[in-house]
Formats: sequence, structure tokens, C-alpha cells
Amino acid sequence: MLPPKAQELVQLFARLPSVGEKTAQRFVLFLLTREPATARALGAALLGIAGTIQPCVRCGNLAEVDATAGGAALCAICRDSQRDASVLCVVGRVQDLMSIERSGAFRGYYFVLGSLLSPLEGVGADQLPIEELKQRVRGSHGIAAVTEVLVATAPSVDGEATALFLAGELRALGTRVTRIASGVPHGGDIEFADPVTLGRAIAGRRGLD
Ligand SMILES: [Zn+2]
Repeated sequence: MLPPKAQELVQLFARLPSVGEKTAQRFVLFLLTREPATARALGAALLGIAGTIQPCVRCGNLAEVDATAGGAALCAICRDSQRDASVLCVVGRVQDLMSIERSGAFRGYYFVLGSLLSPLEGVGADQLPIEELKQRVRGSHGIAAVTEVLVATAPSVDGEATALFLAGELRALGTRVTRIASGVPHGGDIEFADPVTLGRAIAGRRGLD
């Protein structure tokens, strides 16, 4: 019923998480009939982020590419020199980092793995950025060495397996490895945990050694 180009846009919106075909259609009709200016702004913003937003070279969070720094992207957290450089929080995904930031319970720096160990989904240890993490813990780029690595992966089978694997890998570096306390429901997502629960889980972290 929609013109092909509008239908194409419906299909693209429908690929987004939690957006079904009906919602996608509602978005497109709204933009085309009521908000043409928003449609143009959205198009320009999407084109604008292509190539200018990249994973932070230090932690994997999203960062804007800095043309003055030779095109390297360093995120706002890594650029903040007021944070506690002795504690590094390891998370699975950028969404998890954002939830922890919202909780306000953590003031160190982060390291985003990008994925958890998952034998079922075929993600093995060689697919995790372990060497980069080790280098970060040892201290490089003029950053002080990390004395505590707080593993904040989800309390799921994959999250626990990843935490144990990291503890084994990092022990030899002489750093303390801790794990967020339970409280985040088992099998739950860090991303969807409420800030208070997440704050308690961080405050009540325990050693993994
Ligand atoms: Zn960063």
C-alpha cells in the first residue's frame, strides 16, 4: 500500500530492536505526513554518524573521531582525567557500560569486550580482545597500571564463564580480579538492571581469586 521507497524505510525501521512491522509503519507515516523536517534531520544525522562515530581506541565505548588526533577516537570517559585509574571495569557491551554509568556507583575506567564467551554461539576465547585487555591492565599509553579489574559481565552462563576465564588470564599480571555481587537477577542483563541494584552489586563486589 505504501510507495516502494516508503516501504523500504518501514523494513529498515523494523530491523531495530523492539520495533515490529506495525510500529515501523507508524514511524514512517508519522515522518512523511506530520514531520517532514524531522525526516530530513534524521536522514542527515544518520549520514553524519557514518565514519565519525567509532569504538574508542582505549576502551571500546562509542567515541567521536577526532580529526586533530590523527583520526583516533577517544571517548568522553577515557578523556576524563578525574576518574580512578586503578580500577578497570570489564563489560560485555556498550549498553552495559551505559547502565553502570547511570548507576553512578563506579568512577574508574572501562573495557568493553564486545562479546561474551559463548560456546553455544561459537564465540571462543580467541575472539575476545584479551591481549588488548592485558595491555590495558599492565599500563600503556601513559596510563597507570590497573590494580583491580572489576568484571561486570551479566550473571548468565556466558557471563560467568567469561568472568572465570578473565580471572585466570589476569591473575598472572598480579592484579586483583573482582566480580559484581549477586543482586542482578541470574540470567538477567546488566543493561536492564535498575541503577540501585547495579550500585549495590558494584559496592558488594567480591574477589575472584
Ligand atoms: Zn574510551
